[in-house]
Amino acid sequence: MIKIAKFKIEVTSECIGCGACTQCDNFEVVDEDEKRIAKPKQALVDSLECNQDAADTCPVSAIKITKL
Ligand code: SF4
Repeated sequence: MIKIAKFKIEVTSECIGCGACTQCDNFEVVDEDEKRIAKPKQALVDSLECNQDAADTCPVSAIKITKL
């Protein structure tokens, strides 16, 4: 059976690399272009689980969740 992702998780350039979202194991903070920025390990997911908590916790609202 083919699994179809239901949500797309993105981190926008607003991210300040604070690391709060790494409470959710789908996020990691990496160095990119001399800036620390969060990235989703999986950008396409079937269920939001802790991704929604991460988005709610982000101090600059940099986590964008799109229902597909
Ligand atoms: S919580 Fe928001 S600002 Fe902090 S690292 Fe995660 S995405 Fe970036």
